[in-house]
Amino acid sequence: MEFKLIAEYFDKLERISSRIQITSLLTDLFKKSDKDVIDKVIYIIQGKLWPDFYGYPEIGLGEKLMIKALSIGINVKEDTIEAELKKVGDLGEVAYRLKKSGSGTTILTFLGASSSSPLTVEEVYNSLSKIALAEGEGSRDVKIRSLAGLLKKADPLEAKYIIRFIDGRLRVGIGDATIMDALANAYGGGPHARPIIERAYNLRADLGNIAKVVASEGIEALKNLKPEVGIPIRPMLAERLNDPVEILSKVGGQALVDYKYDGERAQIHKKGNEIYIFSRRLENITKQYPDVRDYVKDYIDADEVIIEGEIVAIDKESGDILPFQELMHRKRKNDIHEAVEEYPVNVYLFDLMYYNGEDYTLKPLPERRKKLEEIIKPNDKLHVAHHIFTDDVEKLKEYFYQAISEGAEGIMVKAVGKDSIYQAGARGFLWIKLKRDYQSEMADSVDLVVVGAFYGRGKRGGKLSSLLMAAYDPETDTFYTVCKVASGFSDAELDELQKKLMEIKMDSKDPRVESEMEPDIWVQPKYVAEVIGAEITLSPQHTCCKGQVSKEAGLSIRFPRFIRWRDDKSVEEATTPQEILEMYKLKLKKKEDSSGETQPS
Ligand code: ATP
Repeated sequence: MEFKLIAEYFDKLERISSRIQITSLLTDLFKKSDKDVIDKVIYIIQGKLWPDFYGYPEIGLGEKLMIKALSIGINVKEDTIEAELKKVGDLGEVAYRLKKSGSGTTILTFLGASSSSPLTVEEVYNSLSKIALAEGEGSRDVKIRSLAGLLKKADPLEAKYIIRFIDGRLRVGIGDATIMDALANAYGGGPHARPIIERAYNLRADLGNIAKVVASEGIEALKNLKPEVGIPIRPMLAERLNDPVEILSKVGGQALVDYKYDGERAQIHKKGNEIYIFSRRLENITKQYPDVRDYVKDYIDADEVIIEGEIVAIDKESGDILPFQELMHRKRKNDIHEAVEEYPVNVYLFDLMYYNGEDYTLKPLPERRKKLEEIIKPNDKLHVAHHIFTDDVEKLKEYFYQAISEGAEGIMVKAVGKDSIYQAGARGFLWIKLKRDYQSEMADSVDLVVVGAFYGRGKRGGKLSSLLMAAYDPETDTFYTVCKVASGFSDAELDELQKKLMEIKMDSKDPRVESEMEPDIWVQPKYVAEVIGAEITLSPQHTCCKGQVSKEAGLSIRFPRFIRWRDDKSVEEATTPQEILEMYKLKLKKKEDSSGETQPS
């Protein structure tokens, strides 16, 4: 197929703005395109060489290098090109004008001695790919030479669009939706084929691939299209509601309720030992998570599978889940192996879309979940998301509080009926998110009293490393629990802590302590520690201010960290529940003022 055809259509497309006309021109172009290069035609129209999820480099050729290549290609001095560019402001247009005017034409070309065969789409595509992929020593020359070669052969219009493509300025303004309309007209017999094409695109987010299938095998082949390992599925998205009663009724009265983890969404593809991880935006993020790739290799029992989950940062010592921001360290670190060591992650899986040749997207959620559970071998890195099945609003509320008190962002309430398919690429009420609006950022630290302690896990196994902390209410002379603190201690502080706590260990709870948690050891309220967290949030597990904001839950600190001991304070001088309530209300008010969001009732 000649590249000229594309250039001519680009030229026509540039002159019109009506969507109907654009679709009709595109339909013509597709009809005239060769089936074996239709994928490349689509990518070029999209202004790229391949789908983003390949993770291949973009073409990345600066203006200086393009001018150099053009100068060699058309045999015109760089100065002349630069001067023209100043006037015209578009290097594509400059190339067009110079070629058209015959500048740089030698006597040999004039006589036709060096005339060559017309440029093909394949040739242009291959040269552009070579330019994009060249790296390392000598790559600059390779890029210039390849482009110069193309421009030499190109006619004026072709040169214009080759340069504009590289420059990222095609300006033909064609989105995926229009491409799908045109594909439906060209290969599917008309607009009625559009939903079939869209469904296929949702399953394989690669329009080049979809075009190739429909062009060479027909629309029927698309109807039966399955997801393919290596090509991401467009993600299913959730609606948001705040009223648990409404949420449950929307999903049909019964639901699978998952913790909503606060991490990075990951769509994981596996074919034997080949593993790809795609982000929410379908970028290839496999390189950032070599550990996750290994876990999938070791613990997922399937030849071919596509699963989905949330990658969550984990506290190295306690194993508790950490806020999303912690994952950012991974992206910033150059040394990925060091980052893996320093910022470990767990994966909480929540769906399965494809398994050993079978498309699972059209199966109801319980069936997908069952298969997911079956293929995970016992391990402590990859888990199915924490969940319950319920038809009871009270249980749902309780579970919401439990989720946030354990560091989750809220819950995902999911339909479980016959129609509870995986709606690729769509946002709907089959999944509804209930997030903690009940939150209040914590600007100030608080001073809390140690009333109990828990033994750690992993490296901290056998050591008391998590402290049950309480606020003190002088009115009732009672200690009300607020949070468990497990991070922020240095190794030396941790060692010292063992001695400190064993000295004040009690056989049972101090009568002044009000707690719903049962720590491994109780201690006499003696030490005060300064603690800061991400925010103050509701939690059913803690007794501080229970009943004052919500019937079921008290106030707690999310992601608390130890700052230092406050030996200068007696336990009676610790922060009071009243103060924590004030902090909570103050921030909450500010948040409402600015966002206008309502709270779940
Ligand atoms: P959206 O993804 O809906 O456009 P968003 O990007 O703002 O919105 P959220 O509102 O936080 O994200 O909610 C959706 C995200 O929650 C999902 O994309 C996914 O990454 C995450 N998530 C965490 N846990 C789950 C779960 N158990 N099931 C589904 N999604 C979950």
